[in-house]
Amino acid sequence: MTASTSSVKRDASEMMTSNLPNGNLDAVIAAPSSSSRRRRPLSRRQRGTLSTLLTRKSPFGNETGSLPIGEFDSSVDNNGTSGSSLVRNAKILVVGAGGLGCEILKNLAMSEVVRDVVVMDLDTIDVTNLNRQFLFRSTDVGHSKAECASKFINTRCPWMNVVPYHGKIQNKDAEFYRQFKVVISGLDNVEARRWLNGMINNLVEFDSDGDPMPETIIPLVDGGTEGFSGQSRLILPRITSCFECSLDAFTPSAAVPLCTIAETPRIPEHCIAHAMVLQWPKEFPNKKLDGDSPADMKWVHERAVERADRFGIPGVTYMLTLGVVKNIIPAVASTNAIVSAVCVNEAMKVLSFCSHSLNTYMMYMGSEGIYSHTFVYEQKETCPVCTIHTHQLSVPSTITLNTLLQQLCDGEFRLKAPSITSSSKTLYMRSPAVLEKATRRNLDEPLKELMMSGEELVVTDPVFHETSLSLVVTFAEKS
Ligand SMILES: [Zn+2]
Repeated sequence: MTASTSSVKRDASEMMTSNLPNGNLDAVIAAPSSSSRRRRPLSRRQRGTLSTLLTRKSPFGNETGSLPIGEFDSSVDNNGTSGSSLVRNAKILVVGAGGLGCEILKNLAMSEVVRDVVVMDLDTIDVTNLNRQFLFRSTDVGHSKAECASKFINTRCPWMNVVPYHGKIQNKDAEFYRQFKVVISGLDNVEARRWLNGMINNLVEFDSDGDPMPETIIPLVDGGTEGFSGQSRLILPRITSCFECSLDAFTPSAAVPLCTIAETPRIPEHCIAHAMVLQWPKEFPNKKLDGDSPADMKWVHERAVERADRFGIPGVTYMLTLGVVKNIIPAVASTNAIVSAVCVNEAMKVLSFCSHSLNTYMMYMGSEGIYSHTFVYEQKETCPVCTIHTHQLSVPSTITLNTLLQQLCDGEFRLKAPSITSSSKTLYMRSPAVLEKATRRNLDEPLKELMMSGEELVVTDPVFHETSLSLVVTFAEKS
C-alpha cells in the first residue's frame, strides 16, 4: 500500500485533528503572512480534504434549502455514519468518459472521499480528443475511453476503484442502475440523455398513497456543454423537473423541415444540408457520404456555396460544412472544467446533505465575459416521463396509422420509433420481427378502420426507455 492510500483511508475525525495545525483549517487560511514573501502553497496534509467540510456542523445543511431531501449530520456515530461516510460508501455512476467525463472522474478522485465509481462510454479515443480529455495519451488512441480513463485514475489515485464499462448505456438493465446512489451524466448527445433520464425516472417506486419512495429516488446530475456555454442541473426523479421536461430547450439536430431545405433556405446550414441530404444521394446513389473524406467534403462544400450564391446567403465555409455534416459540437476545455466542477459539487451535496442542493438548473455562459444563472426549471405538466398525463390529439379519421406515427415523431414528443396499441388490439409494434410483420399492414389503414374516436392508445418508444405515453385520439371531422 502506498503512502497516499494509507493517509486517505484514515477516519475522517482523525483527519480533523491530525492533518491540520491545531486541527483547524480556518486558522491555516486566516494566518497572517509573517513576511511579504509569497506564501507557500498549502500541502495536501495542510489543506485537508473534503472530509473537513463533511465533518463540521453547517448552518446551510440541505434540510434548510429549497430541496430538502435529507438531513446533514456531521457527527460520526457508533456505526461510523457521518456526512463523509455517506459519500465514502456510495457507489457513483459516471456516464460518459469524454471531455466532461474526464473532468468529472478527476474531481471525484481529488475529493478524496469517493471510492467506488463505475464509468460507462461506448467510444474509443480519437487523436482530436487529446487536447482536453487529459486522462488519455497518444498511445491510447483507438482504445476504449472508459477503460483508459479508469486505468489512469486507479493508477494515479490508488484510493479509487473505478470500474469501466465499454458499451451502450441501453445494454444495461434497471437492476444495474439501481445499485448507484447518484448518477452523473456527461453525455454529448440528447438521445442518450433522454434514455438515461427515462431509466432513472422509471426506477422510482411509489407507496400506497402514491408518493415516491425516497430510497428509490436516484439523483441524476446532468452536465452539458456546447462551445463556451454549458449547463448543469440536478434532477430528483419524480420530484423536480426531468430532462424530458426541458426538451424544448434543445434544438433538434434534424429539426429543419425538408421543405425549408429544399425550397426556402435562409441560413448557410440550410444550403449545406441541401447539398448533403438532397444533392449527394442524387449524384452518388450508391455511395454513402463520408465526413472524414476530404474529397467528399469538398464536393458538399462546393455545392453548398453554389446554392448559397443563388439565394444570396453569405457564410458557407469549409469549416461550417464539416461541422454540419459531422454534427460537431465545438468543445472548450474551460467550459468542461466549470460544468463538471458544478456537477461533482452537486453530487457531493446530494450524497452528504452538507449544503443546499442546486434548485434545479445552472447555466453558464462564457463567450462574452463570464456569467452564470441559476433558476428553477419547472416540471412540465404534460411531460411523458415524470408526470402521469393523458395527452389529447385530434386528427381527421381519414389519416393513416403511419401518418399518426409520423406526427408523433415530428411533433412535441420527438419520438424515434414508436409502437402503438389500443385497449383491444396491437396496432403496430416494431419488435419482435414476427409482430412487426403481422402489424405492418395496419400502417396504411385509415385510423377509423383501426380504432374508435376517443379511444385511449398506449405509445411506447425506445427513446424513453420503458415509459409509455397515453394518448386519447379523437376524430376531427370536417363539417
Ligand atoms: Zn419531466
